[in-house]
Amino acid sequence: MDKAATLRFRGALRELLRRPAANGVVVYPVTREASIKDVIEALGPPHTEIHGIIADDRPVGFEHRLAPGERITIEPAVFPIDVFTPTLLRPTPLPLPKQRFVADANVGRLATLLRLLGYDAVYDRDMEDGELARIAAEEGRIALSRDVSCLKRSKIMYGRLIRANDPQEQLRDILRAFGLTPPYGAFTRCLRCNRELAPVDKKDILDRLLPKTKRYYEKFSMCPECGRIYWAGSHYEHMRGWIREILKGEETISR
Ligand SMILES: [Zn+2]
Repeated sequence: MDKAATLRFRGALRELLRRPAANGVVVYPVTREASIKDVIEALGPPHTEIHGIIADDRPVGFEHRLAPGERITIEPAVFPIDVFTPTLLRPTPLPLPKQRFVADANVGRLATLLRLLGYDAVYDRDMEDGELARIAAEEGRIALSRDVSCLKRSKIMYGRLIRANDPQEQLRDILRAFGLTPPYGAFTRCLRCNRELAPVDKKDILDRLLPKTKRYYEKFSMCPECGRIYWAGSHYEHMRGWIREILKGEETISR
């Protein structure tokens, strides 16, 4: 076994190992030249879930070549994940001021919920993994997916593996993971096409309003893409209550 390295996976990374390993420890025979990133991904966890690699007490990057006899510790994310500061693993941070997302076809509802809170979340049910990775890289977006293999795409820098089934639980996970705290830009973005809404004069859309809406509401906004009109009606109140419900207990998130 002198050609073996010892890899210790910590915390939530253990659940992502292809084969169960006692205490997350994998003895890995170093039989070929490989980067630590390739070795980790071959064992299960996608690189997006890795937030620290220590080789014999020294922090190293993804390109580190695994050597026989090395002891490697692999750390999961510590919340909140800071995507705006360069790290050894991710030297190129994402553009300020706000986190932006690209959602895989398997988390469409989550994309809508992020839009509801005002976050820019690209989503297209027909988008393939390669396209998602390209958008994440070119537009500086955090990739969200339930699919481990999608998050192994090397173009993706920042991402989050979505574990929960329930979209509301998925949203809570993203808020916690990336430290997204109020105030949110709720009701500022079109739920259908992700564009920011623009104010519109009531007199310009009178013919599109129902009599009651016309009578009780004065302020309206419109999506520049699809023309959908938004106003603070009963639907709005319903969603406000619902957002409060989702965010219950979230005030305690750090930062
Ligand atoms: Zn729209």
